[in-house]
Amino acid sequence: MCKKTRMIFPQLVKSFLSNYCILKVKPTLSLFLLRYLRKFRVMNLGGTLILHSHLPPLNSKAYTRFVKEHLLGKTEGPSHAQIGLTNACPQNCRYCYNKNRKGTPMDTETIIRLIRDLKEMGMIWLGFTGGEPLLNKEIVRITESAGTTVALKLFTTGCTLTRELAKDLQRAGLQYVSISLDHWEERKHDEARGYSGAFRTALKAIELFKETTDLHVSVSSVISWEMIHSGQVEEFLQFLIRLNVQEAWLSEVKPAVPVYWDPKTLFTEADRRYLCGLQDRYNKDHKITVNYLGHFEGRENFGCNAGHKMVYIDAFGEVSPCVFTPMTFGNVQETPVKELFHRMKQQFPSEESCFIHRNYPLFQKYMHGGAIVTEEDSYALMREVRFGPFSQFSKLYYG
Ligand code: SF4
Repeated sequence: MCKKTRMIFPQLVKSFLSNYCILKVKPTLSLFLLRYLRKFRVMNLGGTLILHSHLPPLNSKAYTRFVKEHLLGKTEGPSHAQIGLTNACPQNCRYCYNKNRKGTPMDTETIIRLIRDLKEMGMIWLGFTGGEPLLNKEIVRITESAGTTVALKLFTTGCTLTRELAKDLQRAGLQYVSISLDHWEERKHDEARGYSGAFRTALKAIELFKETTDLHVSVSSVISWEMIHSGQVEEFLQFLIRLNVQEAWLSEVKPAVPVYWDPKTLFTEADRRYLCGLQDRYNKDHKITVNYLGHFEGRENFGCNAGHKMVYIDAFGEVSPCVFTPMTFGNVQETPVKELFHRMKQQFPSEESCFIHRNYPLFQKYMHGGAIVTEEDSYALMREVRFGPFSQFSKLYYG
């Protein structure tokens, strides 16, 4: 047993004992989870055991809730949510999924109430996104309001970050931070972000979080079709290893905006499998955790849970199945999120592959002038959707 494993082992045992209710989870599901967990190295960050930033730490209250409320209690509510804290952003990404969202921004009290309601419904992981969430002046108070029973992750470009803010966010309960970085070449990253200085801002933010906090620091990267087909992903991962971040959170460009409705730019199943293989290989090396969304949401794992276990509430309060699905099922400033989620969930049974990837041609039909699909049209769109089979997790969970 290597030294690192020896150090983590007692913590893992402790975490297992504190979650002894996991013994009640049906054996086939436990086996599935065990197989999934084994794909990653467990990191011990000051006593907090982290697999990757899309799940709560293994010895956290949020993880205990995941076991009790989702694996055992089969709660109807979402496990994962993302909230847009503002739509304002100094950058202008080609693939920005929020550009065409409009309305009256939610105020702080609405966001705090929303977080409370989502927690009551079962949310155990919450991502703050935007726009640039750091531009919300109340971000520390909002973070604090989430309490200690939810894993909190911040997605940021790093714009306007200061040492004080980084420390305040950690004190308020933030656990994970993910800084956007799409390329190791300054010019290419700045170009994709439509903002000169984006690359330097990101690098500075990574440094600042690492120097001033004990937060888990990852880089979130949108991998382009060109990057994968010119074999550059590995070069990029090597760059991230040199940056000494703990995790590379990778996703591919999604056909969530008209500029990516071109089938030639979309990932194929072979591309997805290539990245899954790369993830496994890098995770064995233990130099960085690679966490590819297409693996987590792949048919052999948890599948697509948009609108089923995942919900996105944009900065204006519109409720969508996930951040990449430009449609609304109503606004939390008018109707309680519980009701909206329940209505949406009836439309989304969960399936083995990415909803937006399979159905973007329907969005071409229902998105007018680039605006997100209206509430009424969202139901019309859903009537045309044919869902595929369950993922491996869902088969075991519901079987
Ligand atoms: S629609 Fe695609 S991006 Fe959204 S949750 Fe499903 S798999 Fe993930």
